[in-house]
Amino acid sequence: MVTSTAATAHLRGTTAARIEYTAVSKKFGDTTVLTGLDLTVEPGEFVALLGPSGCGKSTALRILAGFETASSGTLTVDGRDVLRVPAHRRGIGMVSQSYSLFPNLSVADNVSFGLVVRRESKSRRVAKLTSLLDLVGLPGYADRFPAQLSGGQQQRVALARALAVEPRVLLLDEPLSALDARVRSSLREEIRNLQLRLGITMLFVTHDQDEALAMADRVAVMRGGGIEQIDQPGVLYDQPSTDFVARFVGTTN
Ligand code: ADP
Ligand code: MG
Repeated sequence: MVTSTAATAHLRGTTAARIEYTAVSKKFGDTTVLTGLDLTVEPGEFVALLGPSGCGKSTALRILAGFETASSGTLTVDGRDVLRVPAHRRGIGMVSQSYSLFPNLSVADNVSFGLVVRRESKSRRVAKLTSLLDLVGLPGYADRFPAQLSGGQQQRVALARALAVEPRVLLLDEPLSALDARVRSSLREEIRNLQLRLGITMLFVTHDQDEALAMADRVAVMRGGGIEQIDQPGVLYDQPSTDFVARFVGTTN
């Protein structure tokens, strides 16, 4: 991805936010999916939620993004309770595993979608589109359609789309897991660099321990709807607090 200041100038003004989950629980019918999640992510921090399938990682993100309600608990962004704020007013961008691009819209229209909704002027949309496509390493791709792109390129477009609305928090839900190993490892690095450059607060969900340990400032190991241990990668690796953490972190994919 391009590292020019021009590409990030309009995004840099974005202030990173502090996220705080306090005793957030979620039930679907009789099933408790989150058991009282406590998690604080500092402004500009990159935290990975790591855990086996079904432990509640996506649900934790979807509640913050506003796609799911919480059953109880509080969730604040910069001290402001967001649970009652409509999704599009939360200042949160999200990219998920399955390619969530609109198949019938060009790359340009996909990326600009949120800007049209926000009624930004045409000239500002065009300028932003150019810098965002540079930022994710896809200059010149504005007129392509999703079906003409590789999986990795589609995820880059999804990133550009999520960043277009200048979110203060970026949520990534297994954004790399559908990609082949080579693309995955280069995108790992690019996402990390992008995060450092923009200084944006990021919550990244993965079931891949290598990915979490390689990318995150801190890794929260989840089990059965709660966090078992949260620490810096080195600490987690050297001093796992439970057998579960030791086994999960020590497994190679
Ligand atoms: P993860 O992302 O860690 O794999 P999820 O947050 O997607 O886990 O799901 C956690 C649990 O909640 C799973 O058992 C899943 O089947 C259940 N679940 C998720 N969404 C729903 C839903 N809309 N209705 C009922 N159960 C759900
Ligand atoms: Mg999931």
